Amino acid sequence: MKKDIESRIEKLRARIRGHDRLYYVENAPQVSDQEYDRLLKRLKALEDVHPEFITPDSPTQRVGGEPAAEFKQARHIVPMLSMDNTYSAEEMKEFDERVRKNLKGASFEYITELKIDGVSVSLLYENGKFIRGATRGDGINGDDISNNLKTIRSIPLEFQGDAAGIPRLIEVRGEAYMTKEGFEAINKKKESLGEEPFANPRNACAGSLKLLDPRLVAKRHLDIFIWGTGHIEGLKLKAHLEVLQYLKSAGFRTNPDSKLCRDIDEVIEYCGSWRERRGKLEYAIDGIVIKVNDLAQRDALGVTTKSPRWMMAYKYPAEKALTELEDIIVQVGRTGTITPVAILKPVHLSGTTVSRASLHNFDEIKRLGVKIGDKVYVEKSGEIIPKVLSAAKEKRTGGERAFHIPAKCPACGSKLAAGPDEVAIRCENAGCPAQIKEKTLHFASRDAMDIEGLGDAIVDQLVDKAFIKDYGDVYYLEFERVKGLERMAEKSAQNLIGAIAKSKENDLNRLVYALGIRHVGERAAWLLAENFNSIARLSDASLEEITAIEGIGPVIARSVCSFFRNHENLKIIKKLKSAGVKMAASGASPSASGRLLGKTFVLTGVLKSFTRGDAEELIRRLGGRPSSSVSKNTDFVVAGEGPGSKLDKARELGVRIIDEEDFKKMVGGL
Ligand SMILES: [Zn+2]
Repeated sequence: MKKDIESRIEKLRARIRGHDRLYYVENAPQVSDQEYDRLLKRLKALEDVHPEFITPDSPTQRVGGEPAAEFKQARHIVPMLSMDNTYSAEEMKEFDERVRKNLKGASFEYITELKIDGVSVSLLYENGKFIRGATRGDGINGDDISNNLKTIRSIPLEFQGDAAGIPRLIEVRGEAYMTKEGFEAINKKKESLGEEPFANPRNACAGSLKLLDPRLVAKRHLDIFIWGTGHIEGLKLKAHLEVLQYLKSAGFRTNPDSKLCRDIDEVIEYCGSWRERRGKLEYAIDGIVIKVNDLAQRDALGVTTKSPRWMMAYKYPAEKALTELEDIIVQVGRTGTITPVAILKPVHLSGTTVSRASLHNFDEIKRLGVKIGDKVYVEKSGEIIPKVLSAAKEKRTGGERAFHIPAKCPACGSKLAAGPDEVAIRCENAGCPAQIKEKTLHFASRDAMDIEGLGDAIVDQLVDKAFIKDYGDVYYLEFERVKGLERMAEKSAQNLIGAIAKSKENDLNRLVYALGIRHVGERAAWLLAENFNSIARLSDASLEEITAIEGIGPVIARSVCSFFRNHENLKIIKKLKSAGVKMAASGASPSASGRLLGKTFVLTGVLKSFTRGDAEELIRRLGGRPSSSVSKNTDFVVAGEGPGSKLDKARELGVRIIDEEDFKKMVGGL
């Protein structure tokens, strides 16, 4: 019987892994998303009943685990070296001459690869199973970010069957990256929270991989291209191209654009061919990597103290363009912040046409000293965001005019105010249509209430027609009105109404995030939902109670309190409630025996008889709620061996502390 279940679980996992590979690696899915979800749910259900069969490489274990306090160090078996780079074809020829000389006239080939603007990582597999993933770090030691890397679905947790031989031990190396689309989305979100945006996708990717909570990493839409190996035991490969082919057959995602080149001229041609085209890729590249293909020849060439002699990076210089600053307009953000935007005469830059650039804030205009009508230099930082670098003041004709900060909001005409503690200028009219639009878009966005179909064009019309006066009105939209909007077919109107209805059942953390409380990002929303369990309790919470939550600082806490003191906001919440939006956490499943019903537990330290995940699962099954941080609402803190600061916090707040034995008794001597 047990054997049967185990083999059923294994078969399901194999099917899911196969589909993962088809979807994430081969880009050729064979089943619908629903069918895939059904398989995953079935596996999850089986594992819930038989937790003894859960293995770390199960597809259900990609996103999970507690947020880490810090990362452990991981030592690379073979160091991850950096590489020399150049911006000139001349230096590439010099590199070629050195290789030629050192190989004493033997014939050789190069392999060229796109240099993805991401973060190098090393994945360690033992007998074909993923056991650790780490950042490059200083090349010798990196951070162990295994749990974060596991959230990248194209990283196989186990080698695929058709690989020719599985090595006993192998370091697989690649570049984790964020797509341009993901990068723009995250920066938009950061800006709406009043945070500094990431400068480029590499920083965004690095920042994401260093998040301590894997659940958040999973939402950052990261991916990876594998470009090589470090240490290998029990497998012999002769050339780089063979390495890539082998890794591809083992289920890894390699970049399709690498190319074997006979000589340096072909390499230089390849570099040139990507100069323009790279703008159209869905990820950013900052150059081309050139490697000698034959591995024995690489060994013969060796390494200098810091970089291999068989490898070189050709980097594209950042492209600049001169164009005209036609105008400076201002935009109103979700919280009323006014930001200036440069309107440019369209100009071709790094593969795309640029006609707008953010100017960040009014100080930036002052710093640049630009005037409307100026000729300005623009550059794409990280090859994505257009940026005004400077004005070509020598080209002025006298017809340029200075920009003045507007006194009134461009959307509603209200007088603008500068906050006492900030440089930003804001529109403080709660009924400002520009803010209502932004708030509604945020409310409906993918990481908030995830209402598909409620995009820019639709929200613009709904607000302009006054069908939406605040985001609470979303739930009172009538089919006939939606159908009557421009560019809205009957079918899409139906879908939108359906998506709105479905969103009522969302988890509490999504709702908390969707409310658009200033400074409350996804992580803070999670913590608030976990600790207060319902909007009612959250809105009653005192500043002290909110500040007591680990991970919530005073700025966020003050912002939450003032949000729930605001009459307008409470009115919207009432609307949401009356519409039937779920206002509390799901809590225990109805089948729970209820022994721990309604009790909140925080685990700290190491338990002898349970893993963290098992203990949490047990608490949930018995109707209780595991939480990651101690607050006044915590009922018990279970202290294992080597407890952390949560124990001090529990003492401070007078929360009851129990040890593992007490906990075992409580759960019924399991
Ligand atoms: Zn306004």
